Amino acid sequence: MSKVEDFLSVQEEQEIITAIRKAERSTSGEIRIHIETHTDIDHFDRTLEVFHLLKMDNTRLQNGVLIYVAVDDKAFVIYGDEGINKVVPPYFWDTTRDVIRNHFSQGNFKQGLIEGVLQAGRELEKHFPWDVDTHEDELPNEISRG
Ligand code: CA
Repeated sequence: MSKVEDFLSVQEEQEIITAIRKAERSTSGEIRIHIETHTDIDHFDRTLEVFHLLKMDNTRLQNGVLIYVAVDDKAFVIYGDEGINKVVPPYFWDTTRDVIRNHFSQGNFKQGLIEGVLQAGRELEKHFPWDVDTHEDELPNEISRG
């Protein structure tokens, strides 16, 4: 089994965190990434579990987005909170998903996450623009590991 540390170096992780900060400058949405090696349960169910564990369901506008990655399972899930699902069209995350999948399929994990985060930010901006009066960084900009 590979280790999560093999998946991204510290330097690469910093570059992804920079991308999260950049994406969150244009939207009130809150983006997080969780990486683990493997889960025995369904990836979508696990994503929901992590979403709650990270308290991502506590944002004011319910607009947290979690990009969940299970390295050994070669699987990832993008999950947006209820506030997002209420206002976006179906297949909202397809563009972001395709961006990540294209990079991952070529083994470009760091670039896949960076481009995915930036794309998610652009999609979120249309529905949740950055609000100078009320915006605060509600969730830490860091990558959590399982
Ligand atoms: Ca944040």
